[in-house]
Amino acid sequence: MITSTIENYIKQIYLQQQENKSKLLPMGRLAAAMHVVPGTATAMVKTLADSGLVEYEPRSGIRLTHGGEQLALHVLRRHRVLESFLVEVLGLDWSEVHEEAETLEHAVSDKVLERMDLLLNRPQFDPHGDPIPTAKGQIKKIRLVPLTDLKPGHATIIARVADQDPAFLQFAEKNGLLPGVALTLIERDEQADSVQVRLQEKITVTLGGKAAEKILVRMATG
Ligand SMILES: [Zn+2]
Repeated sequence: MITSTIENYIKQIYLQQQENKSKLLPMGRLAAAMHVVPGTATAMVKTLADSGLVEYEPRSGIRLTHGGEQLALHVLRRHRVLESFLVEVLGLDWSEVHEEAETLEHAVSDKVLERMDLLLNRPQFDPHGDPIPTAKGQIKKIRLVPLTDLKPGHATIIARVADQDPAFLQFAEKNGLLPGVALTLIERDEQADSVQVRLQEKITVTLGGKAAEKILVRMATG
């Protein structure tokens, strides 16, 4: 039986693997991401391996099987459609929907999710700019870079805010740093560790390097 714990592990392995696709995911990194001690993560991974969801090489790490990846994409689809529904239909703030979706993603049926998706007009991205996998388990791959990679004068569009922390999301919203907003890099000051940008060709915002790392943009517009 697929429990919510299994779904959370599989989702986390998928998300961690996205950051470094070539290598096996080290057990220590998974344990840290799940906020458990390594022994707990190892025991769980053995169960996942027995269910055919992951391949586990002791002392090297973990990788999702095709079945594991399909499950991860299914959970992410539920999570991201739910977040969109909570913002677009129920009017919740985008800073508070992640926690709600963490619970609901394990409870919502395919039937209810399909109706939500239809009502939302089948969105391709959630409110934070994360791509929503299709019901068939396909996901859009778009190359994004952090603001800190841009050169002065570079004009692009904010694609994603890569932090689910409510305080950071509120900060981003207050400053107009939202997915879909046009942005031009004005200056990157390495010494001050700050980045100055212009939004929608009128508002100028200065960000610290750490915050700028979490604002992801498309390398090219269009
Ligand atoms: Zn979320």
